[in-house]
Amino acid sequence: LGKDLNVKEGSIIFSSEKADRCTLAQNGVENVLDVVDLSLPNMYSANLSLFVLHAGLKLFETRRPELMYLSLSDYVQHKYEPDAPEAIQFYSAIDEAFGRLDGLGAILAVTADHGMRGKSNPDGSPRVIWLQDFLDHEFGRGCTKVVCPITDYFVAHHGSLGSFVRIHCLPDLDKARVISAVDKLAGIDMVCDRMTAVSRFELPVDREADIVVISDADTCVGTTPSAHDLSALGDWPLRTHGGLAESVVPFILNRPIRKDYMERTVRDGLRNFHIFDFAINGVTH
Ligand SMILES: [Zn+2]
Repeated sequence: LGKDLNVKEGSIIFSSEKADRCTLAQNGVENVLDVVDLSLPNMYSANLSLFVLHAGLKLFETRRPELMYLSLSDYVQHKYEPDAPEAIQFYSAIDEAFGRLDGLGAILAVTADHGMRGKSNPDGSPRVIWLQDFLDHEFGRGCTKVVCPITDYFVAHHGSLGSFVRIHCLPDLDKARVISAVDKLAGIDMVCDRMTAVSRFELPVDREADIVVISDADTCVGTTPSAHDLSALGDWPLRTHGGLAESVVPFILNRPIRKDYMERTVRDGLRNFHIFDFAINGVTH
């Protein structure tokens, strides 16, 4: 479905068969517009998420799969504050779809991969630290390479500006000096070396950069202005994610939680990816 819609987010994955026997044909995801009986949603619209939920409802009603994974887009959250009328209308529509899934007897598990914050100046321009420009000025061009992992197709969401970036350094550059210099910048929440980031955020060490930089709730980090297409944001003030301030997310199930899962949560804490285990094994019926 992602390919049909030419988007990454807004996909439907469901499996009523063993994984090794799952094909698109068996699972009815081909010709999804006919299946769902809705028109193709724009990639920048609330309808992208509603389309996925209605596709899920249709598939649940007609095929009753054992498991559905419905991935929505965060377009509305990027564009509207939580109490804006457009946001309230959107939440009301997804709430109605969740209610219908609940009514059909589905075990429903709802979570998010990140929160969202406005990161703009009072004049509406993004509040950005241009980190590559700063490092080039401090340590010389070509000594560091800043990578913004938020970079994706959805430039109108965020202009490739988020709160988490990585710095790769030439081998002979003193990383402690880089960390100390970045740490003094206004708007920085955390700057640390590779091993600290790997341990704190449970990241794979072989993919991690020399230094990780996280900006605060009100600030985002970019490389240099010419590398970010901010025109795609239009007149919308930037709302984005990636920082510690956006790391708290909802974790919602429509069934009571088993006692042992509750005890484990109190003991070990709760992460968003635990929701798969909770939905499949951790609720009472
Ligand atoms: Zn986003």
